[in-house]
Amino acid sequence: MSTFDYDLFVIGGGSGGVRAARIASSDHGAKVAMAEEFRMGGTCVIRGCVPKKLMVFAAGHGAAIDEAAAYGWQVEKGRFDWRAFRTRLDGELRRLESIYTRNAEAAGVTIFHQRATVADPHTVRLADGRLITTRHILVATGGTPFVPEPYADLGAMTSNEIFLMDRLPGSMLVLGGGFIACEMAGILQGLGVAVTLMYRGTQILRGFDSDLQGHVAAALMQQGLNLEVNTDLTALERLPDGRFRASDTQGRVREFDTVLFATGRRPNVDGLGLAEAGVNLGDGGAVIVDDYSQTNIPSIFAVGDVTDRIQLTPVAIREGHAFADTVFGGTPIKPDHTMVASAVFTRPEAGTVGLTEEQARAEGPVEIYMASFNPMQTSFIKAETKALMKLVVCAKTRKVLGCHIVAPGAGELIQLAGVILKMGATKDDFDRTMAVHPTMTEELVLLRKPTRTA
Ligand code: FAD
Repeated sequence: MSTFDYDLFVIGGGSGGVRAARIASSDHGAKVAMAEEFRMGGTCVIRGCVPKKLMVFAAGHGAAIDEAAAYGWQVEKGRFDWRAFRTRLDGELRRLESIYTRNAEAAGVTIFHQRATVADPHTVRLADGRLITTRHILVATGGTPFVPEPYADLGAMTSNEIFLMDRLPGSMLVLGGGFIACEMAGILQGLGVAVTLMYRGTQILRGFDSDLQGHVAAALMQQGLNLEVNTDLTALERLPDGRFRASDTQGRVREFDTVLFATGRRPNVDGLGLAEAGVNLGDGGAVIVDDYSQTNIPSIFAVGDVTDRIQLTPVAIREGHAFADTVFGGTPIKPDHTMVASAVFTRPEAGTVGLTEEQARAEGPVEIYMASFNPMQTSFIKAETKALMKLVVCAKTRKVLGCHIVAPGAGELIQLAGVILKMGATKDDFDRTMAVHPTMTEELVLLRKPTRTA
């Protein structure tokens, strides 16, 4: 008989935590409890991937109306009704939240809808004061948006608030250059907001392939978005009417209805009691774990964004699943963090898997196969949106090390490219594959001559 109240206590009901709790309980028979302080489903469901993607669809319909008119449809483009969208969005998120709760409970997980902290390596303290003992603790508390210090108390928005706006602003300054900044800027511009995207680095989407970066930047600007790189805020003040006055390193002083900080995320560890329990934390508070998501304290594990490995939902889910199988299923499984495909939901989308050209070059000689073209769908109506199909190939082994796509539906396309690259496909495999015509991705199997070698 266990001397603990539970075999596993999961702190955080997001992507990683829910998967770990369900698998440990339903597949492996562990007695599991979980605490969630906000809403079940976590960032992805409540204020990340899901509401964001629904906004991507909303913005895309605006562009589709323009395209339809150019194709000959007699359509009149009205204004976007944010309130109607918000009402529907709120309903959908409530529906998903209740599914997450129901599924966890159906798997036998006890849910405490309150904050929990670590009291010691085998005890969790609930916000209502109860102490609960457990054989294992899983920290799955995710991350939280980071706003640089001088601007933290001005009431500017982060991605947490963007889905809760009462109405759409007329103008918005988006700060940051990562995928969340680019997606939000593109979406809001698509919904009719005049967006300025300001980033202090030389190019948006740092860490992505440079051709992909250039294509996405060009597409955003072509949609009318004001993209300002190599620029940073020097001051930001809140005006009496609630608007913002922003001064920047280019000497400009401008006013915006609202400001969105998409300037990075930090692991959610404040006040969690981890350091006090002896858990080693890295830069910025990330929980340091080994290949099996175990911390230096044997009973405490961590998965997902709080470990700052790869901050994506499928990665958190895979880590949570592997943890449950390892600790409760008797099958040690290391989550595989290589060749993780991901997408940036701009218009058009960008999809990426494997090494960037820059990373591959650092490892040895490469051949770059690339096509940049105006796809049939948009060239027909003289819209200037360029698609990109790019393969980064090892010059010695012919192995395809990276694939980068900018095109409508790139998020869907890169999922399959992910399988192909994970299988270790060579350029010759691509060459042997018959094209599907007429499509955009047929270019990927028709790239005969390298664009560049080195
Ligand atoms: P989370 O999902 O953040 O869950 C952590 C949970 O823990 C939260 O519900 C929180 O309330 C709870 N919690 C925290 N502390 C405590 C405590 N002490 N007690 C109780 N509960 C606590 N990823 C993708 O793969 N694709 C995308 O398109 C994508 N888009 C994104 C868009 C945005 C705007 C954002 C912000 C993120 C996006 N992500 C996307 C990233 C993705 O959401 C995260 O990687 C994923 O949610 C991480 O899961 P997690 O389980 O680690 O944490």
